[in-house]
Amino acid sequence: MKPRLLILSLGGTITMVPTEAGGITPKLGAAELVASVPALAELAEIEAESPLRVASPSLTLADLVAVAQRLEAAFAAGVDGAVVVQGTDTIEESAFLLDLLVAGDQPVVVTGAMRGADAPGADGPANLLAAARVAVAPESRGLGTLVVLNYDVHAARFVQKSHTALPSAFLSPLTGSIGTVIEGRPCYYARIERQPCLGTAAGPPEPVALLRATMGDDTRLMAAVADLGYAGAVIEGMGAGHVHADAAPVLEALAERIPVVLASRVMTGPVFTKTYGYPGAEIDLIGRGLVPSGYLSGLKARLLLGLLLRQTRDRAVIAEAFASYR
Ligand code: ASP
Repeated sequence: MKPRLLILSLGGTITMVPTEAGGITPKLGAAELVASVPALAELAEIEAESPLRVASPSLTLADLVAVAQRLEAAFAAGVDGAVVVQGTDTIEESAFLLDLLVAGDQPVVVTGAMRGADAPGADGPANLLAAARVAVAPESRGLGTLVVLNYDVHAARFVQKSHTALPSAFLSPLTGSIGTVIEGRPCYYARIERQPCLGTAAGPPEPVALLRATMGDDTRLMAAVADLGYAGAVIEGMGAGHVHADAAPVLEALAERIPVVLASRVMTGPVFTKTYGYPGAEIDLIGRGLVPSGYLSGLKARLLLGLLLRQTRDRAVIAEAFASYR
């Protein structure tokens, strides 16, 4: 018997075709994407759904929670794996959110395309087929949410969009991809342990502001955040997690009001916790109440903090959750 595979399309370049007004926009749905790849029908019993047809910058956190709930319902009804199709601009966020929200061993694979559906050398069909192959493979079970493009298999917590144009845009700069689709099967070179699942019952993440430390910044934006109604904030510090000395008391004041996580604006690598002793460095900032993000990027730290804030504002509990990403 063939495995049951749910393909859920949200839009993105993979669904886009040219319009008369100019430019490409989302048009195709999951059924049309599936029809364009005949090999899918041999691989699995496909259930194709198109809850959204949007460019991925317009996806919301509530949209992704609804996707997670649909996946949970499908898995409870016996679906063996799922592919979520969406725009590549926000895949690194969606995939991490689904990884944190969807429990169970059934693979969830997020894919998209860098070239439009009717572009020469369109990468959508190959990515969709590769993603489906990963989603139905028994060896993918228990790995959480994966991202598959260009035959690379990435873990949600490490993957980043790293180029604006190339089909090879997705990288996991810290670790490398965990596998590759070769001769129609995923070959895994590493397995990752799942982190605790935070579930969909408590709803979408709380609003968290993401700030970036920059040379010469006068801290006006940081100082304004607490009065804007955010439940938490993430600051992407310079290097291993550093800000101008004058920004340290501003962040301390912010951390007295809402939880503040310290990430790095550098492409990859963990924030430090015990090396630099100058004002505005990581030891100072952690002493002032900031929580280090470990190796999570600012984008991913914002999502984890938003989900944690649904249930706690306790800094120690939040710090413990982030400590599992060190
Ligand atoms: N802007 C597009 C989107 O994220 C890019 C893509 O899909 O590759 O929807």
